[in-house]
Amino acid sequence: MGLHTEKPEFDFLFAGGGLAALSLALRFVANPFFADKKIVIVEPGEKTGNDRTWCFWEKENGFFEALVEKNWDLAGFHTEAFSKELNLKPYSYKMIRSARFYEHAMAILKANSNVEFLKDRILNLESKSGIVYVQTESGIMISAELAFNSLVPPTSKKSSHHYFLQHFRGWFIRSQKPAFNPESATLMDFRIEQAGDCRFVYVLPFSEDTALVEYTIFSENVLENGQYDDALRNYLHSLLPDGYEILEVESGIIPMYSEAFPKSQADKIINIGTAGGMTKASTGYTFTRIQKHSDKIIESLLKGEIPKASPLSGSARHAWFDRVLLRVLAEKRMSGKDIFENLFKKNPADRVLRFLDDEASLLEELKIMSSVPSDKFMLPGIREFFRKDS
Ligand SMILES: Cc1cc2nc3c(=O)[nH]c(=O)nc-3n(C[C@H](O)[C@H](O)[C@H](O)COP(=O)(O)OP(=O)(O)OC[C@H]3O[C@@H](n4cnc5c(N)ncnc54)[C@H](O)[C@@H]3O)c2cc1C
Repeated sequence: MGLHTEKPEFDFLFAGGGLAALSLALRFVANPFFADKKIVIVEPGEKTGNDRTWCFWEKENGFFEALVEKNWDLAGFHTEAFSKELNLKPYSYKMIRSARFYEHAMAILKANSNVEFLKDRILNLESKSGIVYVQTESGIMISAELAFNSLVPPTSKKSSHHYFLQHFRGWFIRSQKPAFNPESATLMDFRIEQAGDCRFVYVLPFSEDTALVEYTIFSENVLENGQYDDALRNYLHSLLPDGYEILEVESGIIPMYSEAFPKSQADKIINIGTAGGMTKASTGYTFTRIQKHSDKIIESLLKGEIPKASPLSGSARHAWFDRVLLRVLAEKRMSGKDIFENLFKKNPADRVLRFLDDEASLLEELKIMSSVPSDKFMLPGIREFFRKDS
């Protein structure tokens, strides 16, 4: 890496080396078509520990099946008025821990001589005359034919949009006595104080006495750590009266914005991951969309095309569904608790999951829409439909 010349030094450059970059880079090295392509991943972090636990639902075995640590075919949904153990089939709810994912990705990528890692922070990323240039904090300049960017740009908030955050803190715990059914996760337990927000607890049991218990909020502002801890303590007090120990703590923030992230920054810079709009605005789920986007990018490159930045079919309609939900929540027309209760009460779980994956048929979409009260959704629906700047 040094001064840039006419011919770029690399074929593909990854700005950021998190889930989206590593998911795509692993597909590059798995395909002989890319064996002679030079790839560089610019990432300042270590990418070793368990900084996140990814859950997603899937019907078949996925690209990272070997990394799935636990899966559940059953999941509880609870409000004070409605409790159900959902049968997720044909889906299975799967969990991958990032520590294992990073270890796997690094072992494979570092064994490939055409992949280089640069431990540095990107200060600037731009494209000029069909070549992408990156400048890093330590003064290095790199050039590449094509860049995949997962750096989330700063948001300048518009008053016409809603900027929710999904913020959460979870404890990996071991209970004194067996207390969990390891075959059934808890997707959403709303039987907690809502405080005017959408708040629920999420439980992933690994065995009869170990689980990840996460307190999750959809709102515009995050809390102090102690407030999440108090809520977790309250919840566990009634669930585990015999006591428990905390083994590990996880926390995170996922953007749920009605405003779409720019799909591409400039010619030859393709945004991926959360930065590329792969986070579903109404749920925060991102993992599956990143995998679908990665597959589409590979497909395009194999055909000799520059990958499209926005590959998910029907995305305008699906983005509208997401924006309507956020508007209903923001305008407090209906609580998240009541919306999700209606969805899971009036539909089989697989239909809801397909809908949240943007894969439901039109008929299924109509059934989902008719399961929430039209008087609460009509006006937000119309306003979002006629929005000019989405
Ligand atoms: C704690 C947590 C739990 C989550 N759980 C789930 C889940 O269960 N299911 C789900 O579907 N989604 C989940 N998500 C959402 C989403 O899947 C993750 O955020 C995922 O990591 C997004 O992938 P990404 O590549 O877009 O971003 P990241 O994985 O965050 O990668 C971006 C990378 O860019 C690097 N970077 C930042 N600035 C620079 C710079 N200037 N120069 C170079 N590199 C830079 C960062 O260090 C980082 O490694 C979770 C998110 C969090 C935070």
